[in-house]
This record gives sequence, structure tokens and C-alpha cells, in this order.
Amino acid sequence: MKRFFLSLMLVGAFTAQAQLRNADVYEVTEIDHSMQRNVVEIPGFDGYQTLKCDFHIHTAFSDGSVWPDMRVEEAWQEGLDAIAITDHIEYRPHKEQLKGDLNESFKIAKKRGDELGFLVIHGSEITRSKPLGHLNALFLQDSNPLDVEDPLKAIDEAKRQGAFIMWNHPGWPDDKSTLYPVHEELLKANKIDGIEVFNFTEYYPKAFDWPAQYGKAFMGNTDIHGLISGLYGWGKLVRPVTLVFAKGRSEQAIREALFAHRTAVLFQDVLVGPAEYLSKLVMACFQVRQINSGRLEVTNQSDISFKATVDGKLILLPARTAVQMDLPQQGPLVMQNCYVGQDKQLTFELYELEGMLRGAMLEH
Ligand code: ZN
Repeated sequence: MKRFFLSLMLVGAFTAQAQLRNADVYEVTEIDHSMQRNVVEIPGFDGYQTLKCDFHIHTAFSDGSVWPDMRVEEAWQEGLDAIAITDHIEYRPHKEQLKGDLNESFKIAKKRGDELGFLVIHGSEITRSKPLGHLNALFLQDSNPLDVEDPLKAIDEAKRQGAFIMWNHPGWPDDKSTLYPVHEELLKANKIDGIEVFNFTEYYPKAFDWPAQYGKAFMGNTDIHGLISGLYGWGKLVRPVTLVFAKGRSEQAIREALFAHRTAVLFQDVLVGPAEYLSKLVMACFQVRQINSGRLEVTNQSDISFKATVDGKLILLPARTAVQMDLPQQGPLVMQNCYVGQDKQLTFELYELEGMLRGAMLEH
């Protein structure tokens, strides 16, 4: 009897959210999150959209443990706009179990991406020991011709296909961020187009200066092999991403932006990128209202939390929060979580803030 009431209670508890599929099966529809995606607010500027991208991802087709379509679902749910599948060309421990050539993982991921309206870019990782290290070729047509002994020939073949080449994790695996002569040559010959300053859970402060020095793009990605949630946990934009300031949401627009070096890196509320774009991005995140002659209300409309110092005071500007503060008397305002070089943070002089305030007051 007791069991009967218990089962009645359970049915009662579930009926609110369960649908009867037929006389034998109830379906608890509300627990299905597979068609839900986080909305991540990072504004654009100057007519560019800010796209959140991960250009370094492995699957079971190299030394990862995840099927390629799941890479798309993870990223789509987390709130990203695009990923690149970049399996190792030379290191495929599951080769015996899996059929398919070097394009197979991209094809599987792309099919799922097309179903979700999510961008998947065809890449491969050229994998050698240091000094050369690892390089990702992005926007490939065919990965198979890159499977050659001489890595410089693989780079040339990727370039022949119009690829963007990223130098991966300069500080891995020996914990030394060394720019060797081979990199110098490739950078100067435009055979390296971007430098990965964030990778996995690491970042390489020395490398923060190199994109500006050589006129290249800042890149930051996961290099994920297992589950994203296993490493970074669940939630909205938990992984490191490359922010791409693109003319639209398309593979072509991402490619154009990467070659124009309109990128920055975001991980755990730390931004790294060129001052020109970071300052515009930061300004686009905020709305400023003057309360009285000495007081401001600053609203952070983005999902990035900022930390600044001005007049010797620390100001916290949490994501999607309005903060009241005294009008700064002495500049500059230093954005503590925004790096434009090694040990160099983004700063705003007072006249720039006054200009921002005047602009904001005209708009609202
Ligand atoms: Zn990798």
C-alpha cells in the first residue's frame, strides 16, 4: 500500500513536466538541454561582430577521446560561434580502429555544424619537436597532401591551399617560450600568421609582445583532447577563445579578419590583444551615465568582468552590472585584466574617458 502511494506521488511529481508518449512511456521533456545554447554577450564595434572561436581542437581521429560531432555540440551549447577541427597529421593512435583519411574528422563535425547553423573550419596540426614545434593550418581544402616528411613542405602545401598558419603553444612542452630562428624566418616569410598566446590552461607572457612585433594575429584556444566540461567545468564560455572581430558570421568573414589580425584572446576574464581593438571592445562593453558633477554610473553590458584602477583605487566592474563611482580626477585608468603586451595593461587617459562620457551622454 505504501509503495502504491509512493509511486502515485512520483507520477504526480513528474506529470507537470512529463508528456505521455504512449500508454507505456512518459517522457520527461524538460531535462533535455540538447537544443539549448548559452547567449554570450560580447559587443562588436566599428561595424564588426565579435565572434567567439576555438581554433585548436582534437577528436578521436588523432589523440583525442571525443567523436567530432560532439565537439560541435559542446561548443554550440557553451555559446561559441565557430571551431576548427585540428587533428594531428602525424600522430593518430586510433588509426587501426578508425577508417577514413585526414579529412574525415572535419567532415563529421561539419555535417553536425551545418545542422545547427554553427561554423566548423577545416584544419590540421603539423606536429614536430622543438625547435619548430606544432603549427595549425586553418581553412584547408584537403589535409592529405600535408602528410609529408619535411614540415616546411607541409607548410608550403597548406599555404598553396590558402591556409592561415598558427604557431601553437610556444611555451610547451619544455616551459620555455623561445622564438627560434626557424620561427623568425617563417614569421618574416608570412608562413606563420598567428601566435597562440593562450593554450589549454596555460599562457605565455613573453609571447604577448610577438604579434605586434611581427604584425601577426593573437590567438587563444583550448587544444582540447578530452571533454571540455571535464577540464573547464560547465557554463557559459568557460574555455579560452580567440575573439574575432569579423564583418559577418561566416567562414569567409573569419578568414578575412584573421589575415587582417583583428583578434584578441579571452580566458577567465583576462583579455590579451592589440590596444587598438581592446580599447574599442572595452568601450563598447560600457554605458556611462553622469549622476552629478562628481559621480558616474557605469554599466557593464557584457559577460566579461573587468577590474580597473584609477587614482590609486581599485574598481570592480562585474559582468552585466551597474557600478557607481566618483568621477576620476587623475588618470590614467588602468584596465587590470586587459593586456596589450607582456606586463603592459590597457590604459585610458582622462581625456579619452571624458570623450567616452560625452559620447555616451549624446547617445542616451
Ligand atoms: Zn594540438
